[in-house]
Amino acid sequence: MKASGAGRAVPRSVAIIGGGPAGAQCARRLAEAGLAATLFEPRIAFEKPCGGGVPARAMARFPFLLDPRLPVKAIGTCALVAPSGRETELPLPDPLYVFSRADLHTHLIDRALAAGARLERARVLSFSREGAGVGRGGADGWRLRTAGAVHGPFDYLVGADGASGGVGRSLAGGPRQGGLTQGIGYYVPGLVEERITLKFYEGLHGYLWVFPRGDHASAGICGTLGERPVADLRALMDRWLAERYGPGIPERSERYAALIPGALPGTGQAPLQGDGWALVGDATRLVDPLTREGIYYAMLSGEMLADALARGRPGEYAAAWRSRQSEELAWAGRHAEGFFDRRFSERLVALCAASPRLARVLADLISGRQPYRGLKRRLLLAAPLVAVEALLRLRRVRGRRSTDRSGDGCGPADASRPGHGTQGTPPARRSSRDRRRPESAAGGA
Ligand SMILES: Cc1cc2nc3c(=O)[nH]c(=O)nc-3n(C[C@H](O)[C@H](O)[C@H](O)COP(=O)(O)OP(=O)(O)OC[C@H]3O[C@@H](n4cnc5c(N)ncnc54)[C@H](O)[C@@H]3O)c2cc1C
Repeated sequence: MKASGAGRAVPRSVAIIGGGPAGAQCARRLAEAGLAATLFEPRIAFEKPCGGGVPARAMARFPFLLDPRLPVKAIGTCALVAPSGRETELPLPDPLYVFSRADLHTHLIDRALAAGARLERARVLSFSREGAGVGRGGADGWRLRTAGAVHGPFDYLVGADGASGGVGRSLAGGPRQGGLTQGIGYYVPGLVEERITLKFYEGLHGYLWVFPRGDHASAGICGTLGERPVADLRALMDRWLAERYGPGIPERSERYAALIPGALPGTGQAPLQGDGWALVGDATRLVDPLTREGIYYAMLSGEMLADALARGRPGEYAAAWRSRQSEELAWAGRHAEGFFDRRFSERLVALCAASPRLARVLADLISGRQPYRGLKRRLLLAAPLVAVEALLRLRRVRGRRSTDRSGDGCGPADASRPGHGTQGTPPARRSSRDRRRPESAAGGA
């Protein structure tokens, strides 16, 4: 380490294990600050199992993600489907951006290299720390072993090897139980839509998603690990795809499956750092346990760590994370159970259909413009208007029903009624903003 006054010590060399969003962003930021950053990553164009959805909040924080060389699909509509099949469409004033993870992987690593980081295209097999302490010069420091080579010494070690990597376990102690989500899905070629779909099921603490990308979509479903057998999740997914888009999708699509490590509350959370090392992204479970969003938190943690290292104050990373981000993820953890309760999701979908004001709050939540902090207050303030909008809507629907009953059958159509106007139209193309679809027998619990 290079002493830089007032008790600060800037590491001369940093080894980063893993070149996903967390590691690549950390390497980029370190290199920009003039530190020698070496990224260990065996895979190029890694299509990590993922939806690839990135909210507008992340694009505002990392505007380089809008680089025209990086393909992205910006989606301005979200279909919400309740366990009963009731459906509504929300306009998203701030779009959700959907990336192919292979494109994102390549782009972020290229940026890190352009800034001066080094890439070792290799898997780290083991690492150890030698000498009495890091930072005394000479040969002390971290040594990393890859197939046929030993690298180092490095002053500082960053674990960015994702949910299934072992760096976090060996640095921060044994695996932490609980909070794991099972995700499975397909990359569906040719499924191109202009909306994302989120579908809830009774008894599932998770949801199904369809996130269209450029020439394909990532369609998946997730639920708390152990809650339902993977075969059940697969059956729900397959049924949804067949009902919506016709038969044969699983056969012509590539499958994926992976665990998502939701942040654990309080003391359950793994330590973010120790003497001479730190963990970022999924390696230390920095994932929203409600939405399972992790790309933004991975990049943010990588960047916050790099900034603390460049300042010569590594310890400020954990402190900054705790003061700025921990409470968001903890809030999500506290409310995830209730959010996926059937009654709640039914009401949410129905109310969003009835109240543009509530729909706007939810859209802001999806885009990340509305943090969890302050959500309760905003909802309480909006409640009177939401109630008025819902009553007006109810009155309109009742009025239309009685007109239809008393009229000659030539009155205006109500596309929100079950069965109306759907014949011969593929479900995905129907245009009503609030639809109720019969749920098939196995859908839901
Ligand atoms: C099914 C599913 C759907 C998801 N959908 C979304 C979504 O829509 N939006 C969202 O924001 N998040 C989503 N997530 C979460 C998101 O994928 C992760 O939070 C994010 O990828 C974390 O980034 P990371 O850099 O920490 O880890 P990763 O992206 O997992 O990157 C880790 C990297 O480390 C490398 N590595 C591993 N071991 C070693 C080693 N020994 N040596 C060298 N390199 C190594 C790997 O090759 C990999 O490139 C989803 C996750 C899953 C599983």
